[in-house]
Amino acid sequence: MRFDILTLFPDMMEAVLGDSIIGRAKKNGLIEINCIQIRDFTHDKHRQVDDYPYGGGRGMVMQPQPIYEAYQSICDKLDYKPYTIYLSPQGKTFRQSTAKRLAKKEHIVLLCGHYEGVDQRILDEIVDAEISIGDYVLTGGEIACMAVVDAVSRLVPGVLKDEESFSEESHYSGLLEYPQYTRPEEWHGKKVPDVLLSGHHKNICEWKRKMSIKTTFEKRRGMLSKIKLSEKEKNFVEELKREQNCKGKK
Ligand code: SAM
Repeated sequence: MRFDILTLFPDMMEAVLGDSIIGRAKKNGLIEINCIQIRDFTHDKHRQVDDYPYGGGRGMVMQPQPIYEAYQSICDKLDYKPYTIYLSPQGKTFRQSTAKRLAKKEHIVLLCGHYEGVDQRILDEIVDAEISIGDYVLTGGEIACMAVVDAVSRLVPGVLKDEESFSEESHYSGLLEYPQYTRPEEWHGKKVPDVLLSGHHKNICEWKRKMSIKTTFEKRRGMLSKIKLSEKEKNFVEELKREQNCKGKK
């Protein structure tokens, strides 16, 4: 899978996306990440990429032409239009389901804005979707872009090793993940649940599912109404509710 990132801060992106699991996936040729410096597509001696907003207002706005030329430098070598995303606080909120959908694409271009944003005309011309990583405003699109590239890349087949499998992870199937434990078996007087040491695969699987439901109930209860639970699991949720009510009354 290929990502082309249009940014004013390619060094920042390369430092983060060159390490760990994503760095390994790049080395193994499973993903390709190219960071394109928008400033390289200016034609004046100050390499200016922004200007004052028409109509007044605060700050500076990124000009359309350098972004367009940077984008064209990608498209000139292609016989298709790559799926193009603008990272924006005005976009649809990025979710695991968005990551799953994007992981099926072969090529994505991501545009990172800066300053007060980007001239609307270039967005109208090249962008297929606007994505936000949450209802708050960042200084630039780079951090949002790294979050999107990271979350999408780890879903590309082969990027995670078997033991790092994502299918049981939070949000993948609509639940949060069960609690995790590692060595030592006992720490600060707290023991790892016996079932996890039992080696009994079926019981461990059942425990994990039950604990996923419990964790979701405790932390993000609204998610439970969106997934299919068995009758037994529904009864378990009712039990959790009763327990919580009893605690509330004490
Ligand atoms: N003036 C813009 C507005 O009010 O909608 C905000 C501009 S913001 C300071 C600069 C850049 O950061 C944006 O162009 C966008 O690329 C990025 N950005 C800021 N917040 C973001 C968020 N929540 N998700 C994704 N990108 C964001």
